[in-house]
Amino acid sequence: MATTIEAGYSQEIDAVVRFHGHFCPGLSIGIRAAQIALREIGAHSMDEEVVAIVETDMCAVDAIQFMVGCTFGKGNLLHLDYGKNAYTFIRRADGKSIRVMGKPRAFGENPEREAILTRIGAGTATLGDRQRFQELQRKRGLAILEAPEEELFVVKPVEPAIPARARLRASVECELCGESTMETRTRRVGGQIVCIPCFNQLDSRF
Ligand SMILES: [Zn+2]
Ligand SMILES: [Zn+2]
Repeated sequence: MATTIEAGYSQEIDAVVRFHGHFCPGLSIGIRAAQIALREIGAHSMDEEVVAIVETDMCAVDAIQFMVGCTFGKGNLLHLDYGKNAYTFIRRADGKSIRVMGKPRAFGENPEREAILTRIGAGTATLGDRQRFQELQRKRGLAILEAPEEELFVVKPVEPAIPARARLRASVECELCGESTMETRTRRVGGQIVCIPCFNQLDSRF
């Protein structure tokens, strides 16, 4: 399957699509949010640390990781499981912080899309439905890439709530499964130090 979305888009957007694995409206939202972050806050680099706090774990976050350079592994991507299309970017150097909040119903309603989605959910979608849905998703994704920013987002400065830097932490062995576990993630039960999965198993026995 070709991942190049359309002639005329930048190589950078093609690269984001390859990273994510497909082109979709959610990724487009992330690309637009990342562009705002790059303009207002700048990209993460060794000497200019940027932290992103994302309130969703959907497609958009991949664009933010790829374009802004905030990743789980570096500890400068934090996920709040709020299920919101909202992204906060913090520049550590001066604390400049913005929250990019997706506007509800930025694209209005599309009754055809909703009807197909309902059929997909009910398991009654035809092959034609699925093809049409792909086409509608692609159009929506392209429309998001081109929409005026103010139709998509509300961007507000926020008080910097700068999270502590990730630190190296000691690991210990879980006394039940023997697996090496970050000490701060262990639980103590009856004098034993156990990992969370082992703790949860113990817990379910009572
Ligand atoms: Zn996606
Ligand atoms: Zn364990």
